[in-house]
Amino acid sequence: MPRQIISAGSDPTAIGEVSAPPFARLPEPMLLFCRRAERWNALAAGHDLGPYLRFLAALADVQHRIQEGLAEPEMPDAAARERARSFGMPPLDRGNLALDRAAETLDRLVVAASEIKKTVAATDALDRLKQATPAKRAGMVRNVLADAIPMEALAEHIYVAAALQVHFARLAARLDARALVPVGDGACPACGSPPTSSIIVGWQGAHGARFCACSLCGTLWNYVRIKCTLCGSTKGIGYQEIDGGPGTVKAETCDSCGCYVKVLHQHKDPGLDPVADDVATLGLDILVREGGYRRGSFNPFLIGY
Ligand SMILES: [Zn+2]
Ligand SMILES: [Zn+2]
Repeated sequence: MPRQIISAGSDPTAIGEVSAPPFARLPEPMLLFCRRAERWNALAAGHDLGPYLRFLAALADVQHRIQEGLAEPEMPDAAARERARSFGMPPLDRGNLALDRAAETLDRLVVAASEIKKTVAATDALDRLKQATPAKRAGMVRNVLADAIPMEALAEHIYVAAALQVHFARLAARLDARALVPVGDGACPACGSPPTSSIIVGWQGAHGARFCACSLCGTLWNYVRIKCTLCGSTKGIGYQEIDGGPGTVKAETCDSCGCYVKVLHQHKDPGLDPVADDVATLGLDILVREGGYRRGSFNPFLIGY
């Protein structure tokens, strides 16, 4: 088995011994959201954002529960997937989704989310979504998939984004991981979306390898450490963390593009979740932004913060 030792560079914790990690790991939708719900609940205790994290835990539980009995998602056919692959494009095209494919998922999420405890603003937003015409809902889906969520209707779009995460995770889970190819820096090989964060894993056979976590479908893709996950630069990479913290979540800053993406050291704390812990470490975002860096990753649950 070939072994590769990654040098520490400017990150003193970045020594990893990697033996041929897989290029991509597809999501397991029936585990992804229930584990995330547990994580959000655990993080909520004593946290400044406690009520919001508990709401997100309940929403992740809804994301989990609505899958039971949900119709099979309609996959792009084999010829279209092969064509995409030959052009270095992802097999799932987030720019060209017919709403009817995701409509049942969104319908179920809207009904199930009615039961969860939430603020007046979140209740009002859900009511507006319930009353929205199919055309209006289609427009909101397009907004989320175009990364163009309007601030004035942010709360409604959070529910839509949650439904699309379920839909795309179910689509991605039905792909063949071995058929995925790199489609460019900062883009998921399954659906083309930006990462939410990146994780250093403790998996057997890939211990110390880094994976970017897709913000939409949840696919993980292997990515070299000490390299900007957005622009691919290896120069001017730095790491920041909150003083006195556990040292398991850092921001990888890039002087080439001026952005940062968080790195979660899951090999030190297996409970870390690329989406949940991204939200719970908002303090790190504030610190890094004060240094002039922009957030380069995407997390629908952090918009507005
Ligand atoms: Zn993806
Ligand atoms: Zn960069």
